[in-house]
Amino acid sequence: VSSVKPAKTIEVPGYSGTSTLVKAGQYVRITDIEGQQVGDLFAISAEDNYEYLSPSVTRLNNLTIFPRVGECFFSNRDRPILTFLADYSAGPHDMLFASCNNAFFEAWGESNHSNCRDNYFKAAAEAGIAHKIKPDPVNLFQNTPVNPDGSISAFVTRTKAGEYVVLRAEMNIILILTACSVDQINGGRSTSLRIEIFDEAPTS
Ligand SMILES: [Zn+2]
Repeated sequence: VSSVKPAKTIEVPGYSGTSTLVKAGQYVRITDIEGQQVGDLFAISAEDNYEYLSPSVTRLNNLTIFPRVGECFFSNRDRPILTFLADYSAGPHDMLFASCNNAFFEAWGESNHSNCRDNYFKAAAEAGIAHKIKPDPVNLFQNTPVNPDGSISAFVTRTKAGEYVVLRAEMNIILILTACSVDQINGGRSTSLRIEIFDEAPTS
């Protein structure tokens, strides 16, 4: 942890989502404040909302299903949109899962449960994003490894309080982060995440 001061700090309470503008070249630190909390991360071009972070294009270009430090996340137009600069978390991070949503919770007998899809649309509307597209997320801190037979295990998130990742914006973006609402993988309940925006790299 360095002494560089953030230009902006936002807390994302559990079971909710928020948006913030990040300019090209700025750094973003996302911290799991209490631990064991997944964050669904979205990045939408501020200039053209129809360009946004695409996990599938990222998998195509990086030939991996997991985000790796030093590599870019790519947009649906095949341009770098964020770079994954540093990982001070237990990881891993997921690029396969859709966001949790109302139907998903209803299938498990919970109606009207808070969920990342609804929280995304709420944050997107507040940010003035005109369209109703729901991009797929990068699920920070989500511990869902793929088994040799292709099945996926859903384990409780491993991050401890204060662990974080650092990203750099490669274009002007609206960043949206939702604190995932799935109680089971988030250690029993959804808790807060912190977003900090820096003009200089917060890590050496
Ligand atoms: Zn979720």
